[in-house]
Amino acid sequence: MSNVSPADQNPPRTLSSVVSCLSDYDPDALPVADAQAIIRQLIQPINAVEKIALRSALGRVLALDIVSPINVPSHDNSAMDGYALHGSELNPKADLSLKIIGTAYAGRAYDGKVGSGECVRIMTGAVMPGGCDTVIPQEFVRDASDAGMTIPAGAVKLGDNRRLQGEDLKAGTPALQKGKILSPADLGLLASLGIGEIPVQRRLRVAFFSTGDELRSIGETLDEGCVYDSNRYTLYGMLTRLGCDVVDMGVIKDDPDVLEAAFRTACENADAIITSGGVSVGEADYTKQMMAQLGDVGFWKIGMRPGRPMAFGKIASNGKEAYLFGLPGNPVAVMVTFYFLARQALLHMMGASAVAAPPLLRVVSQAAIRKRPGRTEYQRGILSRNSEGIQEVRITGSQGSGVLRSMSEANCMVVLEHDRAEVKAGELVDVILFDGLI
Ligand code: AMP
Ligand code: MG
Repeated sequence: MSNVSPADQNPPRTLSSVVSCLSDYDPDALPVADAQAIIRQLIQPINAVEKIALRSALGRVLALDIVSPINVPSHDNSAMDGYALHGSELNPKADLSLKIIGTAYAGRAYDGKVGSGECVRIMTGAVMPGGCDTVIPQEFVRDASDAGMTIPAGAVKLGDNRRLQGEDLKAGTPALQKGKILSPADLGLLASLGIGEIPVQRRLRVAFFSTGDELRSIGETLDEGCVYDSNRYTLYGMLTRLGCDVVDMGVIKDDPDVLEAAFRTACENADAIITSGGVSVGEADYTKQMMAQLGDVGFWKIGMRPGRPMAFGKIASNGKEAYLFGLPGNPVAVMVTFYFLARQALLHMMGASAVAAPPLLRVVSQAAIRKRPGRTEYQRGILSRNSEGIQEVRITGSQGSGVLRSMSEANCMVVLEHDRAEVKAGELVDVILFDGLI
């Protein structure tokens, strides 16, 4: 995929223009990495900013750099409960007895001068009294009384236990960068700067529906040969975790007029559309036909398991455009294609920066795993520590792409790379933990 230029340099407008730059593009045998790169080339961030209250900003994407308006901390202060003193009076070879002339509390400074031979009792967070540059923790001193105390030789050195003004952040320096997905720590950091209104990207609107005449919604009778639609619930969960505004459009019957209306409504009301089902080879329905008719859509067979068939592109209706992810119908394939092909694209649309894939951990495979080179396999795994304290993964029983229960039992995904063959017991494999995936 080295012949694709980075999206930021010269973003191509259409799927056809992206793939026409690829010498080795084969929609019927597309490696995962190539599919990811093509999607990344086409996707553009939405760039619409709103200001919201700090607490509501959790999980949202920061839309502007935040520059610190103040020094944090705003004054030199004590990191310990103890005594503030002039470090220059310390002698590493001799004890030092000092007279206590007052107390400095957090939020209530000691205003007086501290002379030679003197110290001030000080609490954690209290402003350092004039001239003092060192704090001796209270548990290090000897013979403490209200009047004075003695510091044993070498117990502390100049500058110890003092936090400097601006040590965490200097006024005028960047505190948080645009594109960051705001975490609990970020909320605290923004609060520490006194910032209560945060510029964030507006939420991404994602419409989704399921296609397939065999699908029934909860509450309907399960006729012979039918299944309950579970994909809309996994999609709801995954999109909500990602911070999207979701528009659940239900099950859409395999009828050209109904399908066209659904695609048009979704396109006119959302930034992205996710469908499941109807993209397989030889699928006897109108989903693919409608996707192609309404826009610039590629139909791929991706070198992956589960999740081989997928449609991706952009469709248009009445002057509005939306990106389309046509995921396969199998319940596990939906989740895998969402996490490994759609998730990063949606994050990029949301304006999130550095949306690298979640970290891969290398762990020991407890048993042999069957694997064919030439496709990336995503197997459901259970990661645990063995008796020697080493992380070990075993794959869940059935890896069928319709077995949602195994997805629910698993705590990680074992990612077996494209070129890899059979895994032997004891070999190292990559895993992605579900916790923290989104
Ligand atoms: P498809 O990709 O449409 O050929 O579907 C593959 C398999 O997934 C079939 O067994 C479908 O019944 C099943 N399937 C498709 N959509 C859903 C859905 N929304 N919920 C549960 N199973 C589905
Ligand atoms: Mg189907």
